[in-house]
Amino acid sequence: MKCIRFEKNGQLFHGLLTGTEVQKITGDIFTDYTIGKECFLLEQVNLLPPCMPTKIVAVGLNYLGHAHEMQMAIPDEPLLFLKPSTAVIGPGAAIIYPKMSQRVDYEGELGVVIGRRCKNVSEQNAPDYVFGYTCLNDVTARDLQKKDGQFTRSKSFDTFCPIGPCIETELDPADARIETRLNGQLRQETSTADFIFPVYRLVSFISQVMTLLPGDVIATGTPSGIGPMQPGDEVEVCIGGIGSLRNQVAAG
Ligand code: MG
Repeated sequence: MKCIRFEKNGQLFHGLLTGTEVQKITGDIFTDYTIGKECFLLEQVNLLPPCMPTKIVAVGLNYLGHAHEMQMAIPDEPLLFLKPSTAVIGPGAAIIYPKMSQRVDYEGELGVVIGRRCKNVSEQNAPDYVFGYTCLNDVTARDLQKKDGQFTRSKSFDTFCPIGPCIETELDPADARIETRLNGQLRQETSTADFIFPVYRLVSFISQVMTLLPGDVIATGTPSGIGPMQPGDEVEVCIGGIGSLRNQVAAG
């Protein structure tokens, strides 16, 4: 199913998306919920980020092509960093270009949404802890990433983590098509089959480090083709089976 969050008449709801129709969901989507009879058209609701993570755990260098592009050695275990919950925005919200940076890049990624409290799980059991998948843009101030030598500032500006439009609970993460477009032009195109560390290995690995909570998101790394954005640009991350996450860049 495709699960969304939306605002309607000043109230926030979860919803089930079917084509262009949205049904209200009551209860907790991760534990116990009911799909209501009340129905809206997608165009009549204001889409929000599909979940509100307590943290976003991101993986650097998880596609061979991107490792080559960045002239980095292939890692022997996942390289982890965090993005704060305050960086999250939903579909259609503006990415604010910070005054501190002269180079802000898109990074189209598959986002994994955790469904159950997750600590020390095996790769084999990891599927039980995944709720579903979403599109994610790991927006990065590239100049600050290089200058600082670590990732916190460059990855953490408000609006630097668009997610959405929905969480797809049925996706096969072993071979999902991922594309990023800037102003309609294709810039990144690959399959998650090219991952260095596949999704369930990442879930297991991260859970050996920190407890993952329902709604937490793993950003699984970006393929080759990263590049800069400018105020006024529209960036779109599209993943087969999930949908399309579009955001515009606005000057800070
Ligand atoms: Mg990234």
